[in-house]
Amino acid sequence: MEDALLNELDNLFDGYLKEKKLRRTTERDAIFKLICSFSEHFDVNMLNERLEGDSFHVSKATLYATLELLTELGLIVRHLFPLPFAQYELRVFAETHLHRICLKCGAVSEDKGSKVLPTVNLAKLKMVRFTPAYSATYVYGICSKCTFCIKQAKAAEKAAETPPEQTLTTRKPRK
Ligand SMILES: [Zn+2]
Ligand SMILES: [Zn+2]
Repeated sequence: MEDALLNELDNLFDGYLKEKKLRRTTERDAIFKLICSFSEHFDVNMLNERLEGDSFHVSKATLYATLELLTELGLIVRHLFPLPFAQYELRVFAETHLHRICLKCGAVSEDKGSKVLPTVNLAKLKMVRFTPAYSATYVYGICSKCTFCIKQAKAAEKAAETPPEQTLTTRKPRK
């Protein structure tokens, strides 16, 4: 991450903690810095593993509470993926790509190649009894693995349906 962006996020975090009258504890600071090193999605277990790897023990409760805090601030996004563990991502990154979710297997992938992002112009969006903070786009469909499986299943079904007589008639006549 670029220093300018890191500074910006750091200032936001500081300001928010002061607003909430919370201290920048070593735990909160370590979690925040670790999160800023992720350019991809992460979950609570990934954070835990990295921290433990650095011999820095933080309870899961503290991890969850800090993630909650950062989500509330809007520094990170809690994705609505159908996965066993909630996936998070820095908001500055989440807004730059589309998220694809497979309707069959639930696999999640990022589409970073799309030039057109259907983002909502929040400045122009006037909502009743709601203050928008950011928007995220999920595209639901079928992943390539599932497409392959569906094709194979259809082919197998077709082969099973073919009556044996038909296979005989297609054989080359004997000379
Ligand atoms: Zn993402
Ligand atoms: Zn799939």
